Amino acid sequence: MSFYTNITPQIKYMDNKIAVTIARGDGIGPEIMDAVLLILEKANVNIQPEFIEIGEKVYRQGFSSGMKPEAWESIQRNKVILKAPITTPQGGGYKSLNVTIRTAFGLFANVRPTKAMHPFVKTHFPNLDVVIVRENEEDLYTGIEYRQTAEVTQALKLISVPGTERIVRYAFEYARTNGRKKVTCMVKDNIMKITDGLFANIFREVGKEYPQIVQEIKIIDIGAALLAERPETFDVVVTTNLYGDIISDIVAQVSGSVGMGGSANIGETVSMFEAIHGSAPDIAGKNIANPSGLLNAAIMMLVHLGQQTVAATIANAWLRTIEDGIHTGDIYKEGQSVRKVGTKEFAEAVVQRL
Ligand code: NAD
Repeated sequence: MSFYTNITPQIKYMDNKIAVTIARGDGIGPEIMDAVLLILEKANVNIQPEFIEIGEKVYRQGFSSGMKPEAWESIQRNKVILKAPITTPQGGGYKSLNVTIRTAFGLFANVRPTKAMHPFVKTHFPNLDVVIVRENEEDLYTGIEYRQTAEVTQALKLISVPGTERIVRYAFEYARTNGRKKVTCMVKDNIMKITDGLFANIFREVGKEYPQIVQEIKIIDIGAALLAERPETFDVVVTTNLYGDIISDIVAQVSGSVGMGGSANIGETVSMFEAIHGSAPDIAGKNIANPSGLLNAAIMMLVHLGQQTVAATIANAWLRTIEDGIHTGDIYKEGQSVRKVGTKEFAEAVVQRL
């Protein structure tokens, strides 16, 4: 497994180990993080965890960003963070911690690969193998919203030339580096002619530098429908922040479960690795969550840190666990799976296959 990155991270080493900031998160976060850390430890990865507390508890202590200064410093120092999902409190006064980290550290590319695990995990799409490259700092996620009058509200959709050029080029470079054949741009430029129109125009321009890669532009509504109906016809998809958020959940879900997807948030100096799903409060504390999404994020992190061999060892042990039919409840299927296991038992099964 490899993914394109155009940067050389200035990683901090401690006693020959790479210091990595770890956030255990909210909801199912602590359970899936413990499962992943058990696997990383048993696989002898060359990292030194440095734990920070972020999320619900910190919001409640009066930090509107959900993070204390020492947590910011840890990320700044270590440049790499493995983060479990957190719960964003509803209502005014709180900022989304995820959005804040992505923008504060300039994590411009959100890379979300999904591959079907047919025939071991039930899916209608055995050949699904899609990578969503989502712009990560702009669009409606800038969080600039106004109440114009008592009855009218407004949100700002921000699309810039440098931001778009960077993400589009990243998607093409990712495709080239990973032997991918096609890049699809998804926009709504028939309606948002200036913002999405700019994104599409830059895609056409930058695309001229990559004549060997098939290129297409799809309107996001039919694009999302096609991703749900025939995802195997897509390869790499590049899109704006909000569309990317939505379609990556669609692709992960139709591949088997939203609990399987990992993601890399890549910046010029800092990178953050996390599952694509949220904190799943409905199943928190029950030892039933699938830790695979966070584990796949951790595997991407190890590749990013240059630890390809141990990343492959862990990826293979995980694949064997899935192939042996040892499944958490979200992917368990009577007659197809062999054993339904909890979060911790799944991690132990992976460890046995290292
Ligand atoms: P969610 O992704 O947490 O859950 C959606 C559904 O998928 C739920 O039924 C849940 O049980 C299931 N699910 C999710 N992960 C699973 C796993 N690993 N194993 C098995 N089942 C799993 O989405 P939501 O309920 O809309 O959001 C809950 C909270 O998470 C919200 O506060 C939201 O803001 C937050 N969130 C955080 C992140 C992040 O930290 N990166 C991302 C998305 C949502």
